Amino acid sequence: MLTVFGSTALDTIRTPTKVLKDVLGGAATFAGISASFFVDTGLIAVVGTDFPKKYHNILSKYLDLQGFVVQKGKTFRYDGSYDKTLSTRTTNKTELNVLGTFKPKVPDSYKKSEFVYLANNDPDQNSLLIREFDNVKFSMCDTIEFWISTKRNSVIKMIKNVDAVVINDEEAKLLTKEHNLIKCAKKMMNWGAKYIIIKKGEHGSLLFFEDVIFPSVAFSLEDIIDPTGAGDSFAGAMIGYLANKKSTRLDDIKKSVIYGNVMGSFAVERFGLDGLLNTNKKKIENRIHQYQKMIDF
Ligand code: AMP
Repeated sequence: MLTVFGSTALDTIRTPTKVLKDVLGGAATFAGISASFFVDTGLIAVVGTDFPKKYHNILSKYLDLQGFVVQKGKTFRYDGSYDKTLSTRTTNKTELNVLGTFKPKVPDSYKKSEFVYLANNDPDQNSLLIREFDNVKFSMCDTIEFWISTKRNSVIKMIKNVDAVVINDEEAKLLTKEHNLIKCAKKMMNWGAKYIIIKKGEHGSLLFFEDVIFPSVAFSLEDIIDPTGAGDSFAGAMIGYLANKKSTRLDDIKKSVIYGNVMGSFAVERFGLDGLLNTNKKKIENRIHQYQKMIDF
């Protein structure tokens, strides 16, 4: 089993063609649903009493919700705008609301999870939560500009407590204060994580482990609709694939990165969560075959 902890949100996403208001989002939502195509996934998250029933129904279709809490107050809200290239996003507002005071607890039935993903979330909460598991074989975390700017030392502490970090290129540079991605990865490895995966959006990703560098391309698409959640879908697919195989071997980690690229490509093809909600195991395997063909020479 896999446990995913992190934000479940009501997102306002402004793209050049459409504005989505208060739609279901959040790092743990994208990561958990993406992972659920590979393995049974439990979600630990908090929402407020304003969280719509229809979104609760979507979550319960894909995820085990024993760790999902409805707390008095408003749900975490994120508001972001994309420029016309859809490659640069500006954060307009981050409202923590119930996430700010959440005291997460790991349900007893999740304590034996060997795979744990700490999606983008308060790094202090993430570091506290990971200690509650009895037997973690592989843990991975992500972070975002908001936490790097407000709690950089806590982010570094969180990195000490996990096996892997998955982070985008701009955030890796901001966090490590380095310009070169190899230097960024080395610094994060020195802080304690064994594997570093730096996502480069439409340009794919770099996996670092000891002196190994494994670059992978993104699945090439002509029409990108909404990149929100691509990174979370990438990470969810990675750890979901590994949890399904119960493996932390480097060759499986490399394969998991390819699944990450493929699930990220589904996420960006439609608005909000629709890209993930419209895929299935068959479409995923077809795209993996297309990917294999694409890079074969
Ligand atoms: P991504 O596009 O992969 O970077 O992820 C976007 C998702 O992250 C959105 O659905 C947001 O709700 C969520 N998010 C944005 N900012 C934060 C934050 N400071 N903490 C936790 N989750 C966030």
